[in-house]
Amino acid sequence: MGSLEIFSGLSNFVVSLTAVGLLFFACWYASRDSRISNCIWFLFLGFTLEFIAVWISYQTMELYNAGTTSVSFWVFLELLLLLGSMVCLAVSASQLVTKNMMDLPVILALGILGLISIIYFVFISPDGNVINTIRQIFPIAGLTYMSISFWSQMGQRYRGGYSFAALTSAFAAVVLILRMLGFEGFGVDSWYLAPLVYVMLSIAILMIKNDRTYKKLDEIETEIENSNKRLEKIIRTSPFPIVISRLSDDRIILANNNAVKLFGIQPGELERYRLRDFFADADNRQLLNERLEAEREVQDFEILVKTPTGDTPFWLLASANIIDYNYDVALYSAFQDITTRKNRENLLKNQATRDPLTSLYNRRYFEEEVFKRILDSKVSGEAFSVLMLDVDHFKKVNDTFGHKVGDKVLIELAAAAERALRECDIVARYGGEEFVIFLADTNSEEGLRVAERLRETIGEVVVYTDDGREVRFTVSVGLSSSAISENIDMLIKTADEALYRAKNSGRNRVVVFTPEDLNNFNASAERKNEEANHHPIFDKENSVEISLLDGVESNHIQSSEKTEIEEPRVTAGTVLPGVDEEDLR
Ligand code: GH3
Ligand code: MG
Ligand code: MG
Repeated sequence: MGSLEIFSGLSNFVVSLTAVGLLFFACWYASRDSRISNCIWFLFLGFTLEFIAVWISYQTMELYNAGTTSVSFWVFLELLLLLGSMVCLAVSASQLVTKNMMDLPVILALGILGLISIIYFVFISPDGNVINTIRQIFPIAGLTYMSISFWSQMGQRYRGGYSFAALTSAFAAVVLILRMLGFEGFGVDSWYLAPLVYVMLSIAILMIKNDRTYKKLDEIETEIENSNKRLEKIIRTSPFPIVISRLSDDRIILANNNAVKLFGIQPGELERYRLRDFFADADNRQLLNERLEAEREVQDFEILVKTPTGDTPFWLLASANIIDYNYDVALYSAFQDITTRKNRENLLKNQATRDPLTSLYNRRYFEEEVFKRILDSKVSGEAFSVLMLDVDHFKKVNDTFGHKVGDKVLIELAAAAERALRECDIVARYGGEEFVIFLADTNSEEGLRVAERLRETIGEVVVYTDDGREVRFTVSVGLSSSAISENIDMLIKTADEALYRAKNSGRNRVVVFTPEDLNNFNASAERKNEEANHHPIFDKENSVEISLLDGVESNHIQSSEKTEIEEPRVTAGTVLPGVDEEDLR
């Protein structure tokens, strides 16, 4: 491509060298794309070898003009470099098309043929005209090969760079052919055509690099689209409800039919919802988010979910992880409806802790829970009270109105008590028509006020029989508190003792067990203990034995003591027959 004039003046040389430098820069930049890197470097090498060959040609001419007669070696070297240049351009072109050099045997054969002809026409049978033709044929062949190869890339979507490169190399080849034919018009012989071609090629190479970047983006986009389509297909055909939501704004991007049905929404209105709209419990959601932030993946997480129509919340088992979806960071959540399992669990839990008639806590739960509360209050120093509550003349209710109405009374009483007390208090059915209540953070004076209020509230409750008759009832309450004991058994016993006194002193009242009552209570408890230590059968045996030795006296004393302790309770019970419906108000 280059002409000897490039080296005849400094400015020509500098311009040409700058153009070569530009080509180098373009090649270096484009070579970062590994697919075309080899092709580009062979192209650069081809043009550099040709540039050096022209320089050697210029030197040879100088030598010849200086009178050196034997310049064969320099001519040989020049032609060898031109041959090398042609081979490099051919390799570059073939690399561009196929990447693996399919044309290598052809290129090698051409190279060997070229080498033989150079040796023949330079050394064996020197012929100036033939050498001159070879000198021009090699670059023409290389450029033509390149041009064809660039044209072959026209099928590509982004082909601007390839077409410009093809035009440039074709233009250079045509110029060389015209030069070979001796045509001198239109500046065909000008020295600047070489740097011009270098600059044009540099631009073409940069354009190719640019095209390839776009092509790659296209490919990535297609790949993402395909992978999204695959994912969508998997999600849509999954037997489990699956939802994909954008992480940035929590909006739902995709939900399969199972999820749409589960959450009770229309497929067309997905975008209107955020995942958080379906969480029934904000704390539950917060916990899930924290786990996701820490681990990016959560397995088998139980969430309480609600539908937009606000039906009863239901339980789901969720597995969620953060994925890339449609150029967004998204949350992939798969669900399993575990409402049935959860309900069964709750039922079993309630069966163990609740009284089936009143739905209040049962005695076992009360004792376990209060035990823990007492431990807490020991730490916090808070006072607390325990109430024992018993329906007055309940037997009479049953006898007069029937058991069903009796049950109704217990249910209404339980509901009234729960309404009247705070969340932190514990109301439990202790057994039969007896209830026990733990009042948190409440000393005995406050407890008395609460108990009085409760007694009055219950006194206002009305239950109706099937035939419309009104049934009213009252309760007696015994109160004990942390001032008496911090032992659950003792608290219940002392509250029960106070209740017993409330019954004895006329019912429908509250009696507080005071610290002063403790002495009497302990003495009576000791007596009770002693009695409890006597086994009824052994007692009988003892009594027989004793009666043999000491007479019946001792056995008699024992049984009379027993009667003394139990008698007041019996006495209270004996009031019953005298009570009529009027007493029940
Ligand atoms: P007092 O004022 O001394 O407490 O008299 P009372 O009749 O309430 O006491 P008593 O202990 O003699 O009778 C309690 C009755 O409560 C006896 C029992 O049949 C009845 N009862 C216990 N549990 C239930 C229940 O679940 N439903 C109904 N309807 N009655 C019950
Ligand atoms: Mg009773
Ligand atoms: Mg009772």
